[in-house]
Amino acid sequence: MNSGFFGAFGGRYVAEVLRGPLDELDLAFQEASRDATFWEEFHRIGAEYVGRPTPLLFAENSTRELGGARLYIKLEGLANTGAHKINNAVGQALLARRMGKHRIIAETGAGQHGLATAAICAKLGLECTVYMGEVDINRQRPNVYLMEVFGATVVPVASGSRTLKDAVNEALRDWAGSYDTTHYIIGSALGPSPYPDMVREFQSVIGQEVVRQLSEREVTPTAMVACVGGGSNAIGFFAPYLEREAPRLIGVEAGGRGPEPGQHAARLNGLGRTGIVQGYKSLFLLDDDGQVSHTHSVSAGLDYPGVGPQLAWLGEQGRIEFRTATDEQALEAVQFFARNEGVVFALESAHGGYQAMQLARSLSSNDAVVVNMSGRGDKDLFITARELMPETWHEFLVSEATSIAASLEEGRSR
Ligand SMILES: *Cc1c(COP(=O)(O)O)cnc(C)c1O
Repeated sequence: MNSGFFGAFGGRYVAEVLRGPLDELDLAFQEASRDATFWEEFHRIGAEYVGRPTPLLFAENSTRELGGARLYIKLEGLANTGAHKINNAVGQALLARRMGKHRIIAETGAGQHGLATAAICAKLGLECTVYMGEVDINRQRPNVYLMEVFGATVVPVASGSRTLKDAVNEALRDWAGSYDTTHYIIGSALGPSPYPDMVREFQSVIGQEVVRQLSEREVTPTAMVACVGGGSNAIGFFAPYLEREAPRLIGVEAGGRGPEPGQHAARLNGLGRTGIVQGYKSLFLLDDDGQVSHTHSVSAGLDYPGVGPQLAWLGEQGRIEFRTATDEQALEAVQFFARNEGVVFALESAHGGYQAMQLARSLSSNDAVVVNMSGRGDKDLFITARELMPETWHEFLVSEATSIAASLEEGRSR
């Protein structure tokens, strides 16, 4: 068993009050890991509820169009609730139930993790509270709506920059006072130990399926590509290959509008600095005062100043290569795969998609590149539509707003 460190990164830098609950969680996770019935339940819910295994698509048209390596897409976004986040939420919710905790808390930024958590809580009959920054609530109203449909309570966070990191702080504060009854489900492969290990194990179902799906087709991959926010879809997708020398593993970060401070979320491409934030040591985007910097990405899920400690370490070791894709390149990839394959990548996943396209072009037909489509793009409708068809979309929204205003007015005058 490791100490919770990956080289110099990781660890457990938390207030005294959280040591007990983290020890308890660590022990419960280790016990569950050795218990075949726990994994049976995890895989049963995976099959019956999440929709596993998710398909591996041979992207035949894209391959022809790009004229290089054969391109495969792991359609993880076909999982229930639209992204890989559900794998971790299911695993941790089952663990919470095993620990006798009936209440779940979670933080969310874009809302995908909140949505996955709210959904599995509804399924397992657990009480669910999701902390979300006020700014994010305003940006991601459709996901807030869905969380509430699932019966979760969404608590607006008004402190700090009113975004994801503030939601994490608020969730930690709640947990410090409620751990007797409550489990905190962190949404990515980061935070204090044992979260990075635990989240990787639950997400590694993605990579295990890919290994099987490729071997059934007798394909040996040259490279695997995944987008990197906190790092959970990437580490889960790469997991079975980490100890091997091949294939190449490529993580893609948000290049945003460019390399100027505040305009991107590229921590692993030489711009991040070692720091300790929110309970773990890793690479973060920090300003000259050591404060966490603002970040930008068109994809809310990659817009985070820190990264999972294991990825930081694997980058340092050279096992994983890191690249970026800009906002514009991600949008280009969304359109490319929509037109060629009839699948809509989430904006996050499209960062990986863009670099997979570049890589495929540069390789030959003897090579195979596999990209993880971590989510599907339905959730991005309000972002992509205004970029891709601003006028039509504006007209539609105005007409919707007018019609809602009219029925509200009618209700009032009745
Ligand atoms: C949250 C999210 C991400 C980023 O999170 P990771 O932990 O880096 O995987 C990527 N893709 C989608 C679709 C997401 O919802």
